[in-house]
Amino acid sequence: MPILTIESTCDETAAAVISDGGSVLGECVATQETLHEQFGGVVPEVAARAHVERILPVIDTALRKAGLQGADLDAIAVADRPGLAGSLLVGVVAAKTLAVAWKKPLVAINHLHAHLYACQMAADLSVYPCIGLVVSGGHTSLYHCTSPLDLEYLGGTIDDAAGEAFDKVGAMLNLGFPGGPAVSRLAAQGDPKAHAYPRSMLKEPGYRFSFSGLKTAVRYSIAPPGVKDFSNINLSDQAKADICASFQAAVVDVLVAKSVRAVKAYEAGFLIVGGGVAANPVLRTGLQTAAEKNGFQLVIAPMNLCTDNAVMGAIALEKIRRGEFAPLDLDITAGLQRGF
Ligand code: ATP
Ligand code: MG
Ligand code: FE
Repeated sequence: MPILTIESTCDETAAAVISDGGSVLGECVATQETLHEQFGGVVPEVAARAHVERILPVIDTALRKAGLQGADLDAIAVADRPGLAGSLLVGVVAAKTLAVAWKKPLVAINHLHAHLYACQMAADLSVYPCIGLVVSGGHTSLYHCTSPLDLEYLGGTIDDAAGEAFDKVGAMLNLGFPGGPAVSRLAAQGDPKAHAYPRSMLKEPGYRFSFSGLKTAVRYSIAPPGVKDFSNINLSDQAKADICASFQAAVVDVLVAKSVRAVKAYEAGFLIVGGGVAANPVLRTGLQTAAEKNGFQLVIAPMNLCTDNAVMGAIALEKIRRGEFAPLDLDITAGLQRGF
């Protein structure tokens, strides 16, 4: 029987109905991008309130698309970690309520594990054991994965996430929100060697990342010290494109280098990459080139499953196979600590 998966960790309200074989029977994603655009970033309370409005219509739409009702489901799965507390609460309370009302078991999903699960969903091959790279709006993390549910955290960012840095650079250049897709589009017209931005922590052993110094370097190439208001910056389209291309090259260089380092250290045959930044074409090409050069296989999430969605919640099927269900007093775990 199919399952319902619910995702509300950040600013996308999403639900999907997945068959026990893993096929998508119905899906719905409501983004909140226009709500947060005026603030240049996700405002937690705005996000939580928008989830409250949308969660039941989104679930209802996914079920209708699948032509199913609550009684037809086998389980209700929800991402309970990590994310914004208010956002997580809405999804978790909705899932628990429906589990009680429809008398279905509850399954709790780790959103970052789901981002990585998205990689193999379209690939139809066994990738484990492998190295997993999550590059998203809130995380930049490397894992050694021995199964979809067994992940050892190797290291991650000590400050900004890669996606967050893309968004902040986009905001400084007045490119709208989220900045990642806009920066990446503009970068295609720019010269990646125009600015020699730092490749932070590249030489440091291990798997830590840092993007805040890069962000500051970009900031000073946009406007001199003292300028606080970026809304009137006077840069040509080519100058903006060169900044975007050079910034993107710096991010991609460190992501590729540390991923290859982990693959080699663990003698892994596969690198799996998920999260919103995995949609970046230059990162995808850079990783593919590194895979060919170093003799491992790259499996990146399909473009439609990189940013937040509920389809990747199919990882709940793995938990059901293991008999791992969540109690009705399930709480959220925002996961502000490192190593998630
Ligand atoms: P997390 O998964 O860490 O909780 P999140 O769910 O907010 O964070 P995702 O939805 O996985 O993050 O990804 C959103 C991020 O991906 C944003 O920062 C966005 O700018 C970035 N992004 C999306 N497309 C691209 C792209 N083409 N190039 C670079 N960044 C991109
Ligand atoms: Mg989002
Ligand atoms: Fe995400």
